[in-house]
Amino acid sequence: MQSMPQAMRHSWFFRNGRPWIFLALLLGGCQTQPSLAKQAPLLEINRIEPGIKLDIRYATRNNFTGRVLYSTARALLLPEPALALARAHGKLKPMGYGLLIYDAYRPWSVTRALWNSASAPDRANGYVANPAEGSKHNRGCAVDVGLYALDTGKEVEMPSAFDDFSVRAHADWTGGSEESRHNRDRLRQAMEAEGFRVLPNEWWHFNFRDCDQQPLLDIPFESVH
Ligand SMILES: [Zn+2]
Repeated sequence: MQSMPQAMRHSWFFRNGRPWIFLALLLGGCQTQPSLAKQAPLLEINRIEPGIKLDIRYATRNNFTGRVLYSTARALLLPEPALALARAHGKLKPMGYGLLIYDAYRPWSVTRALWNSASAPDRANGYVANPAEGSKHNRGCAVDVGLYALDTGKEVEMPSAFDDFSVRAHADWTGGSEESRHNRDRLRQAMEAEGFRVLPNEWWHFNFRDCDQQPLLDIPFESVH
């Protein structure tokens, strides 16, 4: 405020900064909000394949924001990726593994909340999606997934934890234990055989085929029956 001319300092706007803040938020919101679809045929994954386990982290505080972002712990996807995921699970079963889902469809408004709570380096590294472009999760065709052992029901070891924003999370990282790398590669093989592609810096994130062409969705979980 010190360098501001006297006339401006005494103007209505500068005596009360709130209108400026409000205007900036309004314009910012207009610029960053892409077009959003309010309807889509989202399917409940564990209704298609009850053997797929859920650990929906954004429905708990056990995520990088430390906040609960989902009202319910549900895993929803568009029909094609949902069926492909069930097939991947079916292929892992004879090897003694099952799929464990951390996240699937994510309403666009949650992507905006994640972006707002992420640090500048995490944004720059691409660990969180810019709401202006939206996340593949908002399109209902991306899934964050790990493995559990069928005999113990426990999550299997991977080279990093879910949402670890470091090099350990890279799909081709050569560190960590040999067993953890085998587990990661087993998951990737099963998923890629069904049309998913791994994100290079997140071993757990898979996009289904033409995911880019699907509309961004902002449907609350409560509206999907
Ligand atoms: Zn993801």
